[in-house]
Amino acid sequence: MSASIIPDIPSRKQVIEQSRRSGKLVAAVFPIHYPRELLRAFNIQPIEVWGPPKVDVRSGATHLQPYICSVVKSGLSFLLQGGLSDVDVILVPHCCDSLQGLGSILLDFIKPKQPVLAFYLPRRRGDSDVEFLAKEIESLYNRLGEITGFKPAKDDLLDATFEEEKADETVLLLYDKRRKLSLGSYEFYRLIRLREYMPVEDFIKLVKKVLSATDERRENKSIPLLVSGVLPEPMEVLREIDKTGAYVAGDDFACCRRRVYGKGVSDDPFIRMAERIVLGPPDPMKGSSLEERISFLEGLIMESGAKGVVLYNVKFCEPEHFYYPLIRGWLRRKGINCVQIEVDINDPLPQQVVTRITALVETIKGAQEANGYFG
Ligand code: SF4
Repeated sequence: MSASIIPDIPSRKQVIEQSRRSGKLVAAVFPIHYPRELLRAFNIQPIEVWGPPKVDVRSGATHLQPYICSVVKSGLSFLLQGGLSDVDVILVPHCCDSLQGLGSILLDFIKPKQPVLAFYLPRRRGDSDVEFLAKEIESLYNRLGEITGFKPAKDDLLDATFEEEKADETVLLLYDKRRKLSLGSYEFYRLIRLREYMPVEDFIKLVKKVLSATDERRENKSIPLLVSGVLPEPMEVLREIDKTGAYVAGDDFACCRRRVYGKGVSDDPFIRMAERIVLGPPDPMKGSSLEERISFLEGLIMESGAKGVVLYNVKFCEPEHFYYPLIRGWLRRKGINCVQIEVDINDPLPQQVVTRITALVETIKGAQEANGYFG
């Protein structure tokens, strides 16, 4: 199956070229949460910038403190090296202090040729969170209207939202059929991460094609793991996990599962877009409580059947890091094995990371054997 899927996966560059040919504008979007549907209603293709990994970060580093994460450092370096010269708009959601700092540097110092738009999220749940975000989305709508010279009608905004809701439903189905698909962890996450830049209609079509290969009789004998963090970079880690005799059965990645939003309920497009983000999966970057996060993780562990958890953090990602001692304590009390790892997305995957994941998997195998799991 994987051999038939991989050739269909376009690169970001190809999607930008294809978008240009079909008359779309292109927006470079920094992590994490934003209303994709709003951009698409303006006929703007969002291309998300999660790093990229393996960039020479010296140019970005001169503008940033040494303790800023590699996602922001790489993103800024990539921009300074001309990597975003083909885009029409740059959107920087303020999901954490590092991204907020990046937004300010772009707006006040670097001033790229493209308009830079900031976008604020409510940093905690409360009575006015949806209302606040709906107003932010409406401001973004007005700003995009000034840039493009037109404003989509309410029905067009709603149609774009329904399409994104359909795509999120399709992703949930993909997670649900994870065990029944003959896909390695690397291939699975390449597919899921196409949400970062592929046109929504093409994404839905591709996922449906993959889902048509579901084999209900298939049993995955590898050890299921849940991985939580910002993003699975360097992506080689996914291949290494499979080599240990485990696989990624579920995730709580900010770039993946945490952005599979549910349906909104309002028929006001701005409120509906806000509902989707605010009421979506908990995320440190939305200020979710520990209880919300634990309840969500517990649900993911049950759904995926995960026997162990990898907390896979980007170095210097403080919002993520603050929860770890408490999440580790909770996992320990539940008797779930866990390992916490930190990576710099620009570095090659350290052998030490592979060793620690291997040790986690061996511990789980040992416990299963001790319990007579293999008969
Ligand atoms: S890795 Fe963490 S600190 Fe860096 S941009 Fe993402 S959320 Fe912010």
